[in-house]
Amino acid sequence: MKYDLITVNENGLYCPAGGFYIDPWRPVERAVITHAHSDHARPGHSYYLAHNHCAPILRLRLGQDINLETMEYGETRAMNGLRVSLHPAGHVLGSAQVRIEHGGKVWVVSGDYKLENDRLTPAFEPIHCHTFITESTFGLPVYKWRPQDEIFEQVNQWWAENQGKNKASILIAYALGKAQRLVENLDHSLGDIYAHGAVFNVHTKFREAGITLPEIKYAGPDMPKSAFMRSLIIAPPSALNTPWMRRFEPYSTAIASGCMAIRGNKRRKAVDRGFALSDHADWQGLNEAINACGAERVFVTHGYQDVMVKWLGEKGKEAHELKTEFVGESEEFDGL
Ligand SMILES: [Zn+2]
Ligand SMILES: [Zn+2]
Repeated sequence: MKYDLITVNENGLYCPAGGFYIDPWRPVERAVITHAHSDHARPGHSYYLAHNHCAPILRLRLGQDINLETMEYGETRAMNGLRVSLHPAGHVLGSAQVRIEHGGKVWVVSGDYKLENDRLTPAFEPIHCHTFITESTFGLPVYKWRPQDEIFEQVNQWWAENQGKNKASILIAYALGKAQRLVENLDHSLGDIYAHGAVFNVHTKFREAGITLPEIKYAGPDMPKSAFMRSLIIAPPSALNTPWMRRFEPYSTAIASGCMAIRGNKRRKAVDRGFALSDHADWQGLNEAINACGAERVFVTHGYQDVMVKWLGEKGKEAHELKTEFVGESEEFDGL
C-alpha cells in the first residue's frame, strides 16, 4: 500500500505526519490556507499559515486577532520535520499551492488556480511532484475560456453602450479576486469605477497592504445620482436585485463569472449580460497543469472529480476522487 502524505477526515485535508490541515472546514489546531475565499479560509482555527497577501483579507474576514503566520512564495517552513512551502496558484491575490516534502516524496495541493496571467496575481507555477491534488471547479470539456483581453474588451464595449443610453453599468463580480482583476484590466479612460462596500473594503485592504491597484470610488448613499450615470459599478452577487441598486437607476446589469459560459444558466436570466470570466482553470488548463507537474498520481477534488478521474484514467494516469465538503467556489456561486 502506498503511503499517503495527505488524507481526508471529517475536518478536511489532513497531513498526519505534519500534524496540520489544508483549508479545513471545521476548527482545527493548525491550518495551512491556500487563499482567503470563504470556502477555504474558515473561522476558528488556533493557528493559520498563509501567503503574505492573504493576511489583510483573512484579518478582515476572520478578525484582527487570529493567530496568523505568513510566508512569501518559495519560502520553506519546517512542520514536524516536513518541509512546507507556498507557490503561486494564479487564482486571486495571495493564492497559493502548498508543496509538502517528506521522506523524499513531494505532494502538491493546488488550492484553486488558473493558468492565464491576470497581470495582478503572480502567475501559476507548475511544481514538480509525485502526487498532485487538483481542484476541478470547471472540470468539464464544455468549459473553454476565451482569452481574457477579449472579455475585457466586451465589458468595455458594454459600458460604453450604456453610457450612450445615459445608463449606469452594474457589473456583478465576487469581491475577492474577480473585482480586482476587472479594476486592473478595464479601461479607466471611459469613466469612473465605483464599488459596493464589500468590494471597496477588499480593494482598500489590499492597497493598505502595499499592493498597487488603480483607484476606485465608494458607491456610498451620499453620492448624487448624477455621479453614477456614466459610471461602472462593481458589486458582489449578494447585492443583485436588492434595494441597494435603486440609487443607480437607470442601469444595465451584467455578471462576470465562469458560470456565464453555459447557455441557459439561470444566473444569465437575472441580468442583461453575462461575461464568461473565471479565476479557475478551464478543462484544458486543468489538463495542462496536471501534465506540467509530472505527477505519477493525481487526486481530483472541489468540482467535477468523477468526470476528470475517468478521463485521466482513460489516458493511463493513476487518478482518484478526493471527496470533500467543498461545493465549488461559494463566493462565485452564492445564491443565484
Ligand atoms: Zn477560490
Ligand atoms: Zn474554491
